Amino acid sequence: MKAAVFHKPGDIRYDSVDDPRIEDSRDVILKVTSTAICGSDLHILSGAVPQANNMVMGHEFMGIVEEVGSAITNLKRGDRVVVPFPIACGHCFFCTHEASPACENSNYKHYGPNGDMMGQKGGALFGYTDLYGGYSGGQAEYVRVPYADISPRIVPDDMSDEQVLFLTDIFPTGWSAIDWAQLKGGEVVAIFGSGPVGLMAQKAAWLNGASRVIAIDPLDYRLEKAKTVNKVETLNPHKVNVVDAIREMTNGRGADVCVDAVGFEPERSFVDKFKATINFEKGSIKVLEMCFEAVRRMGTVSIMGVYGSTYDNFPLHRVFDKGITIKQGQAPVLNYIDHLIDLVSTKKVVLDDIITHTVPLSKVSEAYAMFDDKTDNCVKVVLKP
Ligand code: NAD
Ligand code: ZN
Ligand code: ZN
Repeated sequence: MKAAVFHKPGDIRYDSVDDPRIEDSRDVILKVTSTAICGSDLHILSGAVPQANNMVMGHEFMGIVEEVGSAITNLKRGDRVVVPFPIACGHCFFCTHEASPACENSNYKHYGPNGDMMGQKGGALFGYTDLYGGYSGGQAEYVRVPYADISPRIVPDDMSDEQVLFLTDIFPTGWSAIDWAQLKGGEVVAIFGSGPVGLMAQKAAWLNGASRVIAIDPLDYRLEKAKTVNKVETLNPHKVNVVDAIREMTNGRGADVCVDAVGFEPERSFVDKFKATINFEKGSIKVLEMCFEAVRRMGTVSIMGVYGSTYDNFPLHRVFDKGITIKQGQAPVLNYIDHLIDLVSTKKVVLDDIITHTVPLSKVSEAYAMFDDKTDNCVKVVLKP
């Protein structure tokens, strides 16, 4: 079959690989109908999240069930499903404690309590390096879905792929960021990063009762997108001091909730890069530092952007003095997906309005370059195998 294959940093291309096959009685094989490129894939493309071997990319995908393992009774050939990106067994300690991204069984080679960069990770993810389980991803014609009795969800026939595809990752991820802050209604929510994850967090903030939603991004075209699809207020850090602006908008207090939807590879100056080199740090925590400044005392910072090393000048003094609550990690998609399918199917939220490009999978190299370089006003790319 054909797939988007990672060869080395900067080199993801359309290639031939072996067809996946049923390896366990709980597997299904899916014929992929739509798949998307995620900001998380860019951390592999850049080499910051390391991968030595060739690998089929992609953790945002949906399709039609082609073949089912002998233990599968919840799905049959022909069912149309979306698949949450964390791979979870459904039965271990963490899976039974609403913490499926920490599954103890899906990543048996590299699992461990440490959570360090090179050794012990959490549960597995589709198409996300050997450290995260070494599973082939869904930017492909076909994909093997393990533990298929647990995570795939059948989607309504009358909805297009585009309407439901983002239930696999970015909508539950944006939702997690807001759910973790437990809004009571009326909060001011500032969301750093207006890429796909930031845009989904904006939608989730409105749905959970925010009174003001502020999007922050250095790219004007992404702020325009945010204004158009989500009716948010916007701030560009190239044009204003974002922390001062947020304080001015909130009687000097700061936002009730700040979301970091950027992570460790933000736009960086020469000084940022120099600091990272001498401190042996990966990327930068500058966005997180801004969140801690811009949030009000006793507020919440939700970190959805990925971080990948130690960071020695972490401003713990500010976090302590302001009494900030921090919550972060891989989104526990399974905790939310059924509720979120309801929201989409009852039209309480529209997800496909962030798509800017739909291209054949054969154009995957060009699609990665465009999404990474932020050219052609690219916000979200859907690939068709
Ligand atoms: P993206 O790269 O398209 O978006 C990031 C946005 O941040 C861009 O629009 C960029 O212009 C903006 N940005 C850069 N520097 C900034 C700054 N200083 N201040 C404000 N904004 C800045 O990626 P995405 O798909 O939206 O993903 C965002 C992050 O979320 C990535 O780190 C990704 O790995 C992570 N992610 C995490 C989970 C999870 O479960 N926790 C799931 C999906 C994605
Ligand atoms: Zn993702
Ligand atoms: Zn498990």
